[in-house]
Amino acid sequence: MTVTGAAAAAYIVAALLFILSLAGLSRHESAKAGNTYGIAGMALALAATIALAADGGIDPAGAGLVAVAVVAGAGIGLWRARRVAMTGMPELIAILHSFVGLAAVLVGWNGYLSVEAAEGGPLLTGAEAGIHSAEVAIGVFIGAVTFTGSVVAFLKLSARVKSAPLVLPGKNALNLGALVAFAALTVVFVVEPNLPVLAVLTALALALGWHLVASIGGGDMPVVVSMLNSYSGWAAAASGFLLGNDLLIVTGALVGSSGAYLSYIMCRAMNRSFLSVIAGGFGIEAASSGDTDYGEHREIGADEAAELLADATSVVITPGYGMAVAQAQYPVAELARHLVERGIEVRFGIHPVAGRLPGHMNVLLAEAKVPYDIVLEMDEINDDFPKTSVVLVIGANDTVNPSAVDDPSSPIAGMPVLRVWEAEHVIVFKRSMAAGYAGVQNPLFFRENSRMLFGDARERVEDILKAL
Ligand code: NDP
Repeated sequence: MTVTGAAAAAYIVAALLFILSLAGLSRHESAKAGNTYGIAGMALALAATIALAADGGIDPAGAGLVAVAVVAGAGIGLWRARRVAMTGMPELIAILHSFVGLAAVLVGWNGYLSVEAAEGGPLLTGAEAGIHSAEVAIGVFIGAVTFTGSVVAFLKLSARVKSAPLVLPGKNALNLGALVAFAALTVVFVVEPNLPVLAVLTALALALGWHLVASIGGGDMPVVVSMLNSYSGWAAAASGFLLGNDLLIVTGALVGSSGAYLSYIMCRAMNRSFLSVIAGGFGIEAASSGDTDYGEHREIGADEAAELLADATSVVITPGYGMAVAQAQYPVAELARHLVERGIEVRFGIHPVAGRLPGHMNVLLAEAKVPYDIVLEMDEINDDFPKTSVVLVIGANDTVNPSAVDDPSSPIAGMPVLRVWEAEHVIVFKRSMAAGYAGVQNPLFFRENSRMLFGDARERVEDILKAL
């Protein structure tokens, strides 16, 4: 068999492994196997690509450069992945998406420089030349939007910039205008490929990506992250067309479509319009500042909280991002075990966007060995709060905010939330009265049946365990 034939066969096997990987990652029981399939597929794909390049007679200088790039990239990747804390995972993912976008821009520019602007005249003519130029324009556009969009998502998720939406006057017209300008520039570039048009197109796409994600508010960021995941897939697929690499097209399409589907599921869970979110918050008006005075909050100590728990018949724990920050999942799991031993019914209520990643809380609770059967989704637990004696809100804020239900002017209005305030007693674990990710005040903290337990969630849960 020729090297080309063997590589084509290896690409098919790698594509199948990627599909198995996605299937495995859809359930936590099979997620580890899913990762293994993905790693095997990627190793096979890399080996086949290197074999193809070697067979094509790559010059020694080029091979040396590729080797240096692979070793440096793998080294940095391993170092970051080993060091990243669970709370830093979302921003790591966002910045990795930006690399895919940047790579697609570079592949596009390289395509232009080595074909349309090749020394001694363009390498392609007729319809083929037109198709190549269109691939360059589209690849550079998707890549550049993904690049700056992901950089803004990284900055918002790592709290380096505010999560509130940027509301420029006529923002929808700006986005629409950018799309029309992109279509016009692509036509000009296909008819007469030249450097200034490609440069303007790149700058336009960079600005559009920045604006699209900057315009989306805190509460809608989960959808943005999965949407950028999808864009990075389409950017890779566009590079696949340019490089004539079938596996890159298949893999890009897998990532693109699964990311789009995840965004759609998350929009449904958050009661948001999919089209409005991907169009950079199209139709979302600037919300009121929310300076309402809700009165005084009341505090509770760990000892008193322990007494309430000891007298309870049913307890629901609703964790949020603060549980991840405090790494409180271990004492929380211990507390749940302790209460169950006392004959108290204990369950966990998980909001679909609690934390900073889809499934963030499920991963933490699984890590602390909480049994899956007491971990319920929001829709499974929401009707049970009126029959619950005590709810422990551990580092959650936006996902338990009643203004999503009661206040139509709130930036998170309409988002389904855990209706914890319907329980007999609510104890909120957090360090201060600060707002959550969406930057919205939470009237839950001022309700009659709510009490604040201030301090680091891990330490406070340990205090309760001691008191019990
Ligand atoms: P929030 O981000 O709304 O609130 C977390 C709370 O935890 C804060 O109010 C903070 O209060 C508290 N906290 C932080 N550290 C500690 C600590 N060490 N001990 C005790 N408390 C602590 O959390 P939710 O999980 O309720 O909501 C998630 C938000 O993130 C939503 O707005 C969602 O849209 C957004 N998001 C979700 C993503 C996802 O995919 N899941 C992705 C991107 C964004 P204090 O500082 O006073 O302690």
